[in-house]
Amino acid sequence: MEVLLALTPQYINKIKHGLLAIMAFLLMSIYCPSWAEVTIEKLTEDVLVFDQGENRGLLIIGNKGVAVIDPLNQQVAMELNEFITKNYKQGVTHVVYTHSHWDRITGGEVFKKQGAKFIANKECRLFLSGNQNPNVVEPDVYFDRTYVIELGNQTIELSYFGPSHGECLIAVQIQPARLLFVADLLNTKGPSFPNDPTLPYLRPATLISVLSAMEKLAEANDINSFIGGQSSTNILGPIETISKQREFWQLVQSTAEEAEKNGNVDLNNFIAMDKIDLEPFRKFQNYNQEDLSNILRRYTSFLNMGR
Ligand SMILES: [Zn+2]
Repeated sequence: MEVLLALTPQYINKIKHGLLAIMAFLLMSIYCPSWAEVTIEKLTEDVLVFDQGENRGLLIIGNKGVAVIDPLNQQVAMELNEFITKNYKQGVTHVVYTHSHWDRITGGEVFKKQGAKFIANKECRLFLSGNQNPNVVEPDVYFDRTYVIELGNQTIELSYFGPSHGECLIAVQIQPARLLFVADLLNTKGPSFPNDPTLPYLRPATLISVLSAMEKLAEANDINSFIGGQSSTNILGPIETISKQREFWQLVQSTAEEAEKNGNVDLNNFIAMDKIDLEPFRKFQNYNQEDLSNILRRYTSFLNMGR
Protein backbone atom coordinates (compact mmCIF):
# COMPACT_ATOMS: atom_id res chain seq x y z
CA MET A 1 0.00 0.00 0.00
CA GLU A 2 2.83 2.34 0.96
CA VAL A 3 4.52 1.71 -2.36
CA LEU A 4 1.34 2.56 -4.26
CA LEU A 5 0.95 5.78 -2.32
CA ALA A 6 4.51 6.78 -3.26
CA LEU A 7 3.61 6.70 -6.95
CA THR A 8 2.74 10.38 -7.31
CA PRO A 9 2.44 11.77 -10.87
CA GLN A 10 5.99 13.12 -10.52
CA TYR A 11 7.34 9.68 -9.68
CA ILE A 12 5.40 8.08 -12.49
CA ASN A 13 6.90 10.62 -14.88
CA LYS A 14 10.42 9.81 -13.67
CA ILE A 15 9.79 6.09 -14.15
CA LYS A 16 8.38 6.77 -17.63
CA HIS A 17 11.45 8.79 -18.59
CA GLY A 18 13.74 6.12 -17.20
CA LEU A 19 11.96 3.39 -19.13
CA LEU A 20 12.00 5.48 -22.30
CA ALA A 21 15.75 6.02 -21.94
CA ILE A 22 16.33 2.29 -21.45
CA MET A 23 14.11 1.45 -24.45
CA ALA A 24 15.89 4.04 -26.62
CA PHE A 25 19.25 2.60 -25.59
CA LEU A 26 18.13 -0.95 -26.41
CA LEU A 27 16.72 0.13 -29.78
CA MET A 28 19.95 1.99 -30.61
CA SER A 29 21.94 -1.11 -29.71
CA ILE A 30 19.74 -3.33 -31.88
CA TYR A 31 19.43 -1.08 -34.93
CA CYS A 32 22.88 0.52 -34.84
CA PRO A 33 25.27 -2.33 -34.16
CA SER A 34 28.10 0.13 -34.77
CA TRP A 35 27.06 2.12 -31.70
CA ALA A 36 29.41 0.44 -29.26
CA GLU A 37 32.60 1.24 -27.41
CA VAL A 38 35.84 1.39 -29.40
CA THR A 39 38.99 0.16 -27.67
CA ILE A 40 42.54 0.67 -28.94
CA GLU A 41 45.39 -1.46 -27.65
CA LYS A 42 49.13 -1.51 -28.34
CA LEU A 43 50.40 -4.88 -29.49
CA THR A 44 53.88 -3.48 -30.20
CA GLU A 45 55.08 0.13 -30.28
CA ASP A 46 54.01 0.36 -33.95
CA VAL A 47 51.19 -2.18 -34.31
CA LEU A 48 47.92 -1.28 -32.60
CA VAL A 49 44.73 -3.29 -32.46
CA PHE A 50 41.30 -1.66 -32.31
CA ASP A 51 38.05 -3.41 -31.44
CA GLN A 52 34.40 -2.55 -31.67
CA GLY A 53 31.70 -5.12 -30.98
CA GLU A 54 32.75 -8.31 -32.73
CA ASN A 55 35.19 -6.71 -35.13
CA ARG A 56 38.89 -5.95 -34.95
CA GLY A 57 41.11 -3.83 -37.18
CA LEU A 58 44.71 -2.63 -37.10
CA LEU A 59 46.70 0.58 -37.04
CA ILE A 60 50.27 0.46 -38.29
CA ILE A 61 52.33 3.45 -37.21
CA GLY A 62 55.36 4.08 -39.40
CA ASN A 63 57.68 7.05 -39.15
CA LYS A 64 56.54 8.12 -42.62
CA GLY A 65 52.83 7.50 -42.29
CA VAL A 66 50.01 5.54 -40.69
CA ALA A 67 47.96 2.74 -42.23
CA VAL A 68 44.46 1.73 -41.13
CA ILE A 69 43.60 -1.88 -41.92
CA ASP A 70 39.77 -1.98 -42.16
CA PRO A 71 38.20 1.19 -40.72
CA LEU A 72 35.08 -0.87 -39.75
CA ASN A 73 32.59 2.04 -39.71
CA GLN A 74 32.19 5.80 -39.36
CA GLN A 75 32.20 5.90 -35.55
CA VAL A 76 35.38 3.83 -35.37
CA ALA A 77 37.06 5.89 -38.10
CA MET A 78 36.27 9.15 -36.25
CA GLU A 79 37.62 7.79 -32.96
CA LEU A 80 40.75 6.45 -34.66
CA ASN A 81 41.30 9.82 -36.28
CA GLU A 82 41.00 11.58 -32.93
CA PHE A 83 43.40 9.09 -31.34
CA ILE A 84 45.99 9.45 -34.12
CA THR A 85 45.81 13.26 -34.16
CA LYS A 86 46.29 13.32 -30.39
CA ASN A 87 49.16 10.84 -30.19
CA TYR A 88 51.16 11.04 -33.43
CA LYS A 89 52.55 13.74 -35.66
CA GLN A 90 52.07 11.69 -38.84
CA GLY A 91 48.57 11.32 -40.29
CA VAL A 92 46.79 8.43 -42.01
CA THR A 93 48.38 7.87 -45.43
CA HIS A 94 46.85 4.48 -46.35
CA VAL A 95 43.57 2.68 -45.75
CA VAL A 96 43.55 -1.03 -46.62
CA TYR A 97 40.35 -3.01 -47.16
CA THR A 98 40.93 -6.70 -46.33
CA HIS A 99 37.84 -7.62 -48.38
CA SER A 100 34.60 -6.17 -49.70
CA HIS A 101 32.22 -6.75 -46.76
CA TRP A 102 30.67 -3.52 -45.58
CA ASP A 103 30.77 -4.46 -41.88
CA ARG A 104 34.52 -3.84 -42.08
CA ILE A 105 35.06 -1.01 -44.51
CA THR A 106 32.56 1.82 -44.15
CA GLY A 107 33.34 5.27 -42.75
CA GLY A 108 36.73 5.98 -44.36
CA GLU A 109 35.69 9.48 -45.52
CA VAL A 110 37.54 11.20 -42.66
CA PHE A 111 40.83 9.71 -43.95
CA LYS A 112 40.00 10.39 -47.59
CA LYS A 113 39.74 14.11 -46.76
CA GLN A 114 43.32 13.96 -45.47
CA GLY A 115 44.51 12.49 -48.76
CA ALA A 116 44.91 8.85 -47.69
CA LYS A 117 45.21 6.26 -50.44
CA PHE A 118 42.59 3.46 -50.35
CA ILE A 119 43.72 -0.01 -51.40
CA ALA A 120 41.89 -3.30 -52.10
CA ASN A 121 42.37 -6.35 -54.28
CA LYS A 122 41.05 -6.03 -57.82
CA GLU A 123 38.37 -8.70 -57.29
CA CYS A 124 36.70 -6.26 -54.85
CA ARG A 125 36.02 -3.89 -57.73
CA LEU A 126 32.75 -5.63 -58.61
CA PHE A 127 31.43 -4.85 -55.11
CA LEU A 128 32.99 -1.44 -54.48
CA SER A 129 33.09 0.48 -57.73
CA GLY A 130 30.39 2.90 -58.85
CA ASN A 131 29.28 4.04 -55.42
CA GLN A 132 27.44 0.86 -54.43
CA ASN A 133 27.41 2.12 -50.84
CA PRO A 134 27.94 5.87 -50.32
CA ASN A 135 29.52 5.18 -46.92
CA VAL A 136 32.26 3.05 -48.46
CA VAL A 137 35.05 5.15 -49.96
CA GLU A 138 35.97 3.60 -53.30
CA PRO A 139 39.56 2.33 -53.49
CA ASP A 140 42.14 4.34 -55.47
CA VAL A 141 44.21 1.23 -56.03
CA TYR A 142 42.92 -2.21 -57.04
CA PHE A 143 45.99 -4.47 -56.97
CA ASP A 144 46.38 -7.88 -58.60
CA ARG A 145 48.54 -10.38 -56.61
CA THR A 146 50.67 -8.29 -54.25
CA TYR A 147 51.03 -4.70 -53.11
CA VAL A 148 53.65 -3.22 -50.80
CA ILE A 149 53.12 -0.18 -48.57
CA GLU A 150 56.28 1.46 -47.23
CA LEU A 151 55.80 3.57 -44.12
CA GLY A 152 59.48 4.21 -43.41
CA ASN A 153 60.33 1.84 -40.57
CA GLN A 154 57.20 -0.29 -41.25
CA THR A 155 56.39 -2.38 -44.31
CA ILE A 156 52.98 -3.82 -45.10
CA GLU A 157 52.69 -6.40 -47.84
CA LEU A 158 49.26 -7.36 -49.16
CA SER A 159 48.79 -10.74 -50.87
CA TYR A 160 45.86 -12.19 -52.77
CA PHE A 161 45.62 -15.92 -53.47
CA GLY A 162 42.06 -16.37 -54.81
CA PRO A 163 38.46 -16.41 -53.49
CA SER A 164 38.09 -17.79 -49.94
CA HIS A 165 35.86 -15.72 -47.63
CA GLY A 166 34.12 -13.77 -50.39
CA GLU A 167 35.91 -13.00 -53.63
CA CYS A 168 38.72 -10.69 -52.57
CA LEU A 169 40.02 -11.44 -49.06
CA ILE A 170 43.74 -10.70 -48.71
CA ALA A 171 46.50 -11.56 -46.23
CA VAL A 172 48.21 -8.54 -44.66
CA GLN A 173 51.85 -9.05 -43.72
CA ILE A 174 53.38 -6.60 -41.23
CA GLN A 175 57.14 -6.29 -40.96
CA PRO A 176 59.36 -6.08 -38.97
CA ALA A 177 56.78 -7.34 -36.41
CA ARG A 178 56.56 -10.64 -38.36
CA LEU A 179 52.77 -10.72 -38.17
CA LEU A 180 50.00 -11.75 -40.51
CA PHE A 181 46.49 -10.27 -40.35
CA VAL A 182 43.69 -12.35 -41.84
CA ALA A 183 40.14 -11.12 -41.27
CA ASP A 184 37.09 -13.41 -41.22
CA LEU A 185 38.75 -16.71 -42.16
CA LEU A 186 40.70 -17.71 -39.05
CA ASN A 187 40.13 -17.56 -35.31
CA THR A 188 43.02 -16.91 -32.89
CA LYS A 189 41.39 -19.34 -30.42
CA GLY A 190 42.30 -22.16 -32.81
CA PRO A 191 40.85 -24.10 -35.75
CA SER A 192 37.07 -23.75 -35.55
CA PHE A 193 33.67 -24.33 -37.04
CA PRO A 194 32.59 -21.21 -38.93
CA ASN A 195 30.15 -18.79 -37.26
CA ASP A 196 27.54 -19.23 -39.98
CA PRO A 197 27.15 -22.93 -40.94
CA THR A 198 25.35 -22.08 -44.17
CA LEU A 199 28.71 -20.71 -45.41
CA PRO A 200 27.22 -17.86 -47.44
CA TYR A 201 30.63 -16.36 -48.25
CA LEU A 202 32.82 -19.41 -48.45
CA ARG A 203 34.33 -20.43 -51.80
CA PRO A 204 34.95 -24.21 -51.63
CA ALA A 205 36.65 -24.37 -55.05
CA THR A 206 39.66 -22.30 -53.96
CA LEU A 207 39.54 -22.17 -50.15
CA ILE A 208 42.09 -24.92 -49.49
CA SER A 209 44.63 -23.59 -51.98
CA VAL A 210 44.27 -20.09 -50.45
CA LEU A 211 44.99 -21.44 -46.95
CA SER A 212 47.98 -23.43 -48.29
CA ALA A 213 49.34 -20.29 -49.93
CA MET A 214 49.00 -18.38 -46.64
CA GLU A 215 50.91 -21.14 -44.86
CA LYS A 216 53.72 -20.85 -47.42
CA LEU A 217 53.76 -17.06 -47.13
CA ALA A 218 54.13 -17.31 -43.35
CA GLU A 219 56.90 -19.88 -43.63
CA ALA A 220 58.86 -17.92 -46.22
CA ASN A 221 58.73 -14.78 -44.07
CA ASP A 222 59.43 -16.35 -40.70
CA ILE A 223 55.99 -15.44 -39.34
CA ASN A 224 54.91 -17.25 -36.16
CA SER A 225 51.67 -15.49 -35.23
CA PHE A 226 48.57 -14.09 -36.85
CA ILE A 227 45.82 -11.66 -35.87
CA GLY A 228 42.19 -12.33 -36.82
CA GLY A 229 39.37 -9.92 -37.65
CA GLN A 230 37.21 -11.00 -34.70
CA SER A 231 37.67 -9.26 -31.38
CA SER A 232 38.73 -12.34 -29.47
CA THR A 233 40.61 -12.02 -26.17
CA ASN A 234 43.64 -13.67 -27.74
CA ILE A 235 45.07 -11.02 -30.04
CA LEU A 236 47.68 -13.41 -31.41
CA GLY A 237 47.09 -16.93 -32.62
CA PRO A 238 49.79 -19.50 -33.45
CA ILE A 239 50.50 -19.65 -37.18
CA GLU A 240 49.82 -23.43 -37.17
CA THR A 241 46.13 -22.51 -36.88
CA ILE A 242 46.18 -21.85 -40.63
CA SER A 243 47.21 -25.42 -41.46
CA LYS A 244 44.82 -26.83 -38.84
CA GLN A 245 41.97 -24.78 -40.32
CA ARG A 246 42.93 -26.06 -43.78
CA GLU A 247 42.76 -29.62 -42.38
CA PHE A 248 39.25 -28.86 -41.11
CA TRP A 249 38.09 -27.86 -44.59
CA GLN A 250 39.86 -30.84 -46.15
CA LEU A 251 38.04 -33.11 -43.69
CA VAL A 252 34.72 -31.47 -44.62
CA GLN A 253 35.44 -31.92 -48.32
CA SER A 254 36.61 -35.55 -48.06
CA THR A 255 33.60 -36.43 -45.85
CA ALA A 256 31.24 -34.93 -48.45
CA GLU A 257 33.04 -36.75 -51.29
CA GLU A 258 32.88 -40.05 -49.43
CA ALA A 259 29.15 -39.63 -48.70
CA GLU A 260 28.52 -38.92 -52.39
CA LYS A 261 30.47 -42.03 -53.37
CA ASN A 262 28.56 -44.20 -50.89
CA GLY A 263 25.15 -42.83 -51.89
CA ASN A 264 24.56 -41.26 -48.45
CA VAL A 265 23.32 -37.94 -49.77
CA ASP A 266 19.58 -37.24 -50.17
CA LEU A 267 17.85 -35.22 -52.90
CA ASN A 268 18.22 -32.02 -50.87
CA ASN A 269 21.97 -32.59 -50.61
CA PHE A 270 21.85 -33.53 -46.92
CA ILE A 271 24.20 -36.28 -45.75
CA ALA A 272 22.92 -39.15 -43.58
CA MET A 273 24.73 -38.04 -40.42
CA ASP A 274 24.42 -41.48 -38.76
CA LYS A 275 26.59 -42.93 -41.52
CA ILE A 276 29.63 -40.69 -41.01
CA ASP A 277 32.39 -40.68 -38.40
CA LEU A 278 31.89 -37.55 -36.29
CA GLU A 279 34.91 -38.16 -34.09
CA PRO A 280 37.54 -36.26 -36.19
CA PHE A 281 35.29 -33.16 -36.13
CA ARG A 282 34.92 -32.99 -32.36
CA LYS A 283 38.36 -31.50 -31.75
CA PHE A 284 37.46 -28.24 -33.55
CA GLN A 285 36.19 -25.21 -31.61
CA ASN A 286 32.40 -24.69 -31.56
CA TYR A 287 31.72 -28.27 -32.68
CA ASN A 288 28.01 -28.75 -33.29
CA GLN A 289 26.46 -31.68 -35.16
CA GLU A 290 23.61 -29.65 -36.64
CA ASP A 291 26.05 -27.05 -37.94
CA LEU A 292 28.18 -29.83 -39.41
CA SER A 293 25.17 -31.17 -41.30
CA ASN A 294 24.63 -27.72 -42.89
CA ILE A 295 28.34 -27.25 -43.64
CA LEU A 296 28.51 -30.65 -45.35
CA ARG A 297 25.39 -29.79 -47.33
CA ARG A 298 27.14 -26.74 -48.72
CA TYR A 299 29.94 -29.04 -49.89
CA THR A 300 27.67 -31.72 -51.37
CA SER A 301 25.86 -28.94 -53.27
CA PHE A 302 29.24 -27.76 -54.50
CA LEU A 303 30.23 -31.29 -55.56
CA ASN A 304 26.86 -31.89 -57.24
CA MET A 305 26.30 -28.57 -58.90
CA GLY A 306 29.58 -26.66 -58.70
CA ARG A 307 28.15 -23.93 -56.53
ZN1 LIG B 1 33.59 -10.72 -44.23
